[in-house]
Amino acid sequence: KPIVAIVGRPNVGKSTLFNVLAGERISIVQDTPGVTRDRIYADCTWLDMSYTLIDTGGIEPDSKDIILSQMREQAEIAIATADVIIFITDVRQGLVDADSKVADMLRKSGKPVVLVVNKVDNFDKFMPDVYEFYNLGIGDPIPVSAASRLGIGDMLDEVSKYFPNSSKEEEEDERPRIAIVGKPNVGKSSIVNRLVGENRVIVSDVAGTTRDAIDTTVRYNKKEYVFIDTAGLRRKNKIKEEIERYSIIRAVTAVERADVVLVVIDASEGVTEQDAKIAGIAHERGKGVLIVVNKWDLVEKNDKTMKEHTNKIREVLSFMPYAEILFISAETGQRTGKLYEYIDMIMENQTLRVQTGVLNEIMTEAVAMQQPPSDKGKRLKLYYITEVSVKPPTFVIFVNDKELMHFSYTRYIENKIREAFGFRGTSLKFIIRERK
Ligand code: GDP
Repeated sequence: KPIVAIVGRPNVGKSTLFNVLAGERISIVQDTPGVTRDRIYADCTWLDMSYTLIDTGGIEPDSKDIILSQMREQAEIAIATADVIIFITDVRQGLVDADSKVADMLRKSGKPVVLVVNKVDNFDKFMPDVYEFYNLGIGDPIPVSAASRLGIGDMLDEVSKYFPNSSKEEEEDERPRIAIVGKPNVGKSSIVNRLVGENRVIVSDVAGTTRDAIDTTVRYNKKEYVFIDTAGLRRKNKIKEEIERYSIIRAVTAVERADVVLVVIDASEGVTEQDAKIAGIAHERGKGVLIVVNKWDLVEKNDKTMKEHTNKIREVLSFMPYAEILFISAETGQRTGKLYEYIDMIMENQTLRVQTGVLNEIMTEAVAMQQPPSDKGKRLKLYYITEVSVKPPTFVIFVNDKELMHFSYTRYIENKIREAFGFRGTSLKFIIRERK
């Protein structure tokens, strides 16, 4: 999915625009933590296209100097992560110096930019002022009013023109794509350094998209692996809230392109709600997941320590019981040699296909062992199950009445499938269909 970032000064209407675009599409997933609720990102659609929208703006500063440095930060994040940037300005405040400076940055980046002039509630009255924004030198200004939802369609038409035709190249690429996510300072860069080490491959075979520049390809055991957005890991920001925000934005954009996600947790600090938010991003998108507990060297241990950490992680990350946990030290190299093994195993499970005949045997047996639920005298019947796609493995179950298929019974079938095939490290998706 393409990534669209919104950049602009405080009070020009970034959040309003974000909310209009995200609209009701913001879904609050029951069993994952509030990743979508704090609205740093949202999954959106326009016509038949879907995209991920990110709001790069964090805290709203008031002094002029801070505004400019903040905008530079935002623009950098957008340039590093987005496919298209919406640069939003305000017709009522007019063109200001900070706008020009940011426009320069955006222009130099070569990223597609759509210049939007907000608060144009009345076209006749404000159009002359809109023309002034041509001076930014980043193309035609598009007048909108986010608050009254004017001009939004025209803006999205313009934005979607820049969507990459397809990510088919990436989809057909069979090399495992790995994202390493986690809070600042948990040791992501250190882990990348361990994994890449001397295995780095200088690739020049793929046409130089900007994305290749931020990824690192590695050859290990005669296989190639692509580590996503390794450049992003080297970023160092200044302001704390910004760092956390950036770690979420980075996670969203990297996870989007990944097959396997390493969710890194700091053992010396223990698992936190922020870790759960980041892990939730990978879970929601059905990616392969490995929970990596780093800095294990810093923990004072006895024979119960690992069990205690595991229990706590299972509790806080209760929505992903399928994920394996690996305790490592990027510093000493303890168990880092296992990372590739786990990545291979998870990748295999993400793409594992089970024969329909076997699946139906398992389901028939499961139904015989535990009677399906019933309601008002009508009992659930499960007719048929088949795996329709992978990454993540997705199953369709045909039943007599969807309403009767309780979440807990789906979970029961899932567990039976997992007992037989493991599918460790990957979530499984179930689609329930009615067949009369
Ligand atoms: P990032 O922000 O997640 O990329 O974290 P870094 O890789 O920059 O690591 C943050 C700090 O933790 C650095 O000072 C590292 O040297 C240190 N660090 C990383 N991994 C370990 C580890 O396994 N053990 C110890 N003791 N320190 C570590």
